[in-house]
Amino acid sequence: MCCNHTLENNKSTDQKPDESFELNLITGMSFFDPHVHMTSRTTDDYQAMADAGIVALIEPSFWLGQPRTGVDSFKDYFSSLVGWERFRSSQFGIKHYCTIGLNSREANNEALAEQVMEVLPLFMYKDGVVGIGEIGFDDQTPLEEKYYRLQLELAKEANLPVQIHTPHRDKKRGTQRSMDIAIEHGIDPTMVIVDHNNEETVKDVLNKGFWAAFTIYPFTKMGNQRMVEITKQFGPERIMINSAADWGISDPLAVPKTAALMKQQGISVDDIRLVTYQNAITAFAQSGQIDESDFTSGIDQSIKFEGNSILRGGQQPRINKSSIIIR
Ligand SMILES: [Zn+2]
Repeated sequence: MCCNHTLENNKSTDQKPDESFELNLITGMSFFDPHVHMTSRTTDDYQAMADAGIVALIEPSFWLGQPRTGVDSFKDYFSSLVGWERFRSSQFGIKHYCTIGLNSREANNEALAEQVMEVLPLFMYKDGVVGIGEIGFDDQTPLEEKYYRLQLELAKEANLPVQIHTPHRDKKRGTQRSMDIAIEHGIDPTMVIVDHNNEETVKDVLNKGFWAAFTIYPFTKMGNQRMVEITKQFGPERIMINSAADWGISDPLAVPKTAALMKQQGISVDDIRLVTYQNAITAFAQSGQIDESDFTSGIDQSIKFEGNSILRGGQQPRINKSSIIIR
C-alpha cells in the first residue's frame, strides 16, 4: 500500500473508523456528486474533490443552520447558487449545478414561505438549475406538506426533476408519504430522486420506479461499507450516492472514497460508474441542463466573477488541470 495514495479518516474524533480508503484504486475514474452544499465548504475541499476525480456536482438549496428572517436572504442565496458558487467551483475545474427550492424546515414559517414561493420561478429557469430541491418532509408537519405539494406543481409545470429530502426521524413513513404525494400529483417516478435512503427504504423506492439516492455520512447512518453491501444486494440500477457535505461534520470525498471501497470489494467498474457518476447524470439531465462535454472545459483562475477572484494577494492563477497545488 502506497501511503501517498491512501487517505485515512484521521479526523479529530474518537469514532474513527478503521477502514482506510485506497484512492489509488480509482485513479482515472470520474465522479459526480449529486448532493453537496459547497457554499459551506472551503477551497481546500474543492481542490481535494477535483484531485479525487469529482468532475461535476449538484448543490441543492437547503437551510443554513439557523432560520432566515426575510425573503431577501433567500434571494441572495439562490443568486449565489447560480452565480458566485458556480464560479468558485469552475475555478477548480468542477462543473457546478444546483436545485432550487424551499427546504422543509423553513416551510414551517408560513409568512416567509409564501414570499419564497413567489421568488422561486425567478430562479428555477436559470442556466444550470437541474431540478426543484431539496424539498419534502422534515418533521412531517401540515405546512411542510403544503409547500411540498406546491413545489411539486412548480416542478411539473417546468418539467424539472424533483430532489426529495426524506426525514431523518420516522424515515420509512416520511419516504412513503413523499412518494405517494408525488404520484398523486401526477409526477412520473423517473423524474423524482428520493434522497437519504437506507436499508429500510431502498426496496420500496426502487419497486415504485423512483431513483434512490444515498447519503454517505461519516461515522453514522449510511456509512461507506453499508453502501457497498446495498450495491451488492440491489445492483446499480437507479441507485446513486452522494456526500451531502455541508456545514456539519461531513465528508466531501464520500463519493470517491466509497467507489474505492467498492472496487476493493469486487464491485465491477461499470457498476461503480453507474452509482457514482452515470445514474445521477441520467436522472438530472432530464432537466435539459447537463452536457457532459462541459465537464472537461479546463480551468482558468485568471477569470473574475463581477470583478472578484478566488485568488488572494500575490497568488498566481492556475490555468490547467496538471498542477496540483495553487501557488
Ligand atoms: Zn442537503
